[in-house]
Amino acid sequence: MSDLTYCQGPKCHTYDTKDRKRGPKGNKRNETRRRSSFYYLDGHACSMNCERDWFNVYGSRALDHFGRITEPRVLTQDNAWSIRRNWNHPDADTFYAYNHLTEERRPITQSQYESDNSITDDGRLNI
Ligand SMILES: [Zn+2]
Repeated sequence: MSDLTYCQGPKCHTYDTKDRKRGPKGNKRNETRRRSSFYYLDGHACSMNCERDWFNVYGSRALDHFGRITEPRVLTQDNAWSIRRNWNHPDADTFYAYNHLTEERRPITQSQYESDNSITDDGRLNI
């Protein structure tokens, strides 16, 4: 079973590299890269070039689809939270939520620290 996926860069096949060449001698062609994992475009593109190509072709449509920011977003004490780990003081609270505006620290558990849901996408504490 193979978990290989194709690079999502729309012009990936146009970059002329050895690893993109496929086919018999005399009838070589370049193909989109295929890998088990990619580093760019959140794991969907093989290179910075392909990431940029993707955005140049699809970026505006993605913004239209997910909604553009049409008024300023504001950081207040309600959405200024981040999750942190105290690496330097083993006796102190190892995990805490930190408010960038008030500088308040609230101890949290390790599972809250490791959870993707402890802070909302817009920085609100969800504990
Ligand atoms: Zn690519």
